[in-house]
Amino acid sequence: KEFRNNVKPNWCPGCGDFSIQAAIQRAAANTGLTPEELAVISGIGCSGRISGYIHAYGLHGIHGRALPIAQGVKLANRDLTVIASGGDGDGFAIGMGHTIHAIRRNMNITYIVMDNQIYGLTKGQTSPRSAEGFVTKSTPSGSIETTLSPLELALSAGATFVAQSFSSDIKQLTALIEEGIKHEGFSIINVFSPCVTFNKVNTYEWFKENIVNLDSFPDYDPSNRIQAMTKLMETGGLLTGLIYQDQSRKSYENQIQGFKETPLAQQDLALTEEQFDHLMAEFR
Ligand code: SF4
Repeated sequence: KEFRNNVKPNWCPGCGDFSIQAAIQRAAANTGLTPEELAVISGIGCSGRISGYIHAYGLHGIHGRALPIAQGVKLANRDLTVIASGGDGDGFAIGMGHTIHAIRRNMNITYIVMDNQIYGLTKGQTSPRSAEGFVTKSTPSGSIETTLSPLELALSAGATFVAQSFSSDIKQLTALIEEGIKHEGFSIINVFSPCVTFNKVNTYEWFKENIVNLDSFPDYDPSNRIQAMTKLMETGGLLTGLIYQDQSRKSYENQIQGFKETPLAQQDLALTEEQFDHLMAEFR
């Protein structure tokens, strides 16, 4: 309840994003956070609205730029738990450059991608996650591009926490978000989130029939990167659960030499009013 506000989401009834919102709220409560300790930063797209639907600090950023903003927030106040969120178009098309470098930088941020395999807000065009042959307004004869495999890319880029879930499996999703929040370093959680209005192929039923839950492999070892990559490839990227975790690497902010114990946001501004005005003038 603590993380609920009185804003009514304007997602279409049945949109997968509702469950992701609920899972973030539950995971935040389960980890013992208060709204003052959480910042939710989002990009543009239907999913980008999420930062306004959670009672916490929030910033609805610009297209593809949720991660640079989230990293700025974390650097300014590393006492905050930072969640970045957005759609597959936001994170894997316009924002892909930022996504890859945020992964290899390994700041203590949880990035939740609401993957509906289409552009919903602009009324149904092909996204980097759409399958080959996928027919939309922008690809009336079917997409002729290869589908992007974001988690294989994340593993290649040195990710320390890689997970995937399905918005209908709120129990698994909540547990993975909790683990992502607790993980030291960058955690990427890709969530299949059906767009009931524009994607008539990747529906709830389609995911239920095609996803492969890691629970069915009791011997699976999430610390084995090669096995993670192999399993992802074997399942066509439809694997759900904790796919990979490296607990040996320190986060970026915990390796910065001379980083003061007090976060920047809580330090006194060691400037006179005149010096401050001069600094501001340089930015104009
Ligand atoms: Fe959700 Fe699709 Fe509606 Fe957007 S258009 S709110 S993604 S169902």
